Amino acid sequence: MARQTPRLSYTFPDLLPGDTEIVRLYESGLVCSAVASIVGLTRGGVENRLHRLGVQLRPRGKFARNEKIAPREQVVGLYKEGLTARQIAERLGTNHRTVLNRLEKAGIERRQRWEKPVISVGELRALYAVAGQTCKEIGKVYGYTGAGIRTLLEAAGITRRRATRRLGMWGGSRNPNWKGGTRYFPYSEKFTTTLKEKIRVRDGRKCQLCGMTEREHKRRFKIHGKGVRNAVHHINYDKQDCREENLITLCHKCNVRVNFNREHWQQFFKQKMGVA
Ligand SMILES: [Zn+2]
Repeated sequence: MARQTPRLSYTFPDLLPGDTEIVRLYESGLVCSAVASIVGLTRGGVENRLHRLGVQLRPRGKFARNEKIAPREQVVGLYKEGLTARQIAERLGTNHRTVLNRLEKAGIERRQRWEKPVISVGELRALYAVAGQTCKEIGKVYGYTGAGIRTLLEAAGITRRRATRRLGMWGGSRNPNWKGGTRYFPYSEKFTTTLKEKIRVRDGRKCQLCGMTEREHKRRFKIHGKGVRNAVHHINYDKQDCREENLITLCHKCNVRVNFNREHWQQFFKQKMGVA
């Protein structure tokens, strides 16, 4: 069956990983320096790659004050997800004053420092009852303690698992995502620290789904010396398959997220890697 649209990698044999992302970010209205800070290149590097890919560069400076930079809905979305104004600014390549302006114009009330991000009941149920995560694991992602999550579960009316049957009725082989206990299989010997670092460097040390930097990851997820760096995810969920095209950098939160809809994510990342 012939493809309708040729894949970019055929048209541009020298396409580097991340090029499509650079184009997407630039065309969403970001300036080159903002794109550069997201993908971990210099501004000149971004300009070169856009030029090589045949993208018409906009005149410099004209778009800096444009609403297209850090669009209001995107800022509001990230803020509701629990990011601070400064984290949003870092993510979108702008300053935190701009972020506060957007929030004010959207009529969003600022959180107090001690207020935690809201976790919806659906998300809580998905993580706890369907994915079989522990309260501690969920808490780590959202900045709560395990006890805090237990309180939320109670408030949401979600039945707690007994400690002795950790995986619950949707856990283990009863879960449609069950892959024969691969979680407890040892990772391949090839999955070394060196290889993981190589992948992180290739991916600009950023989560390839939400763009979280290593610095931000450390700030949000570091617990007892763990979670400092972004995770390296096996695209086809086979932990023995350590080919570089099967590995991708993800933050802890996105790594949790890709445990659902595995078919979708596998396809998504394969396309991103140009091996679909
Ligand atoms: Zn992420």
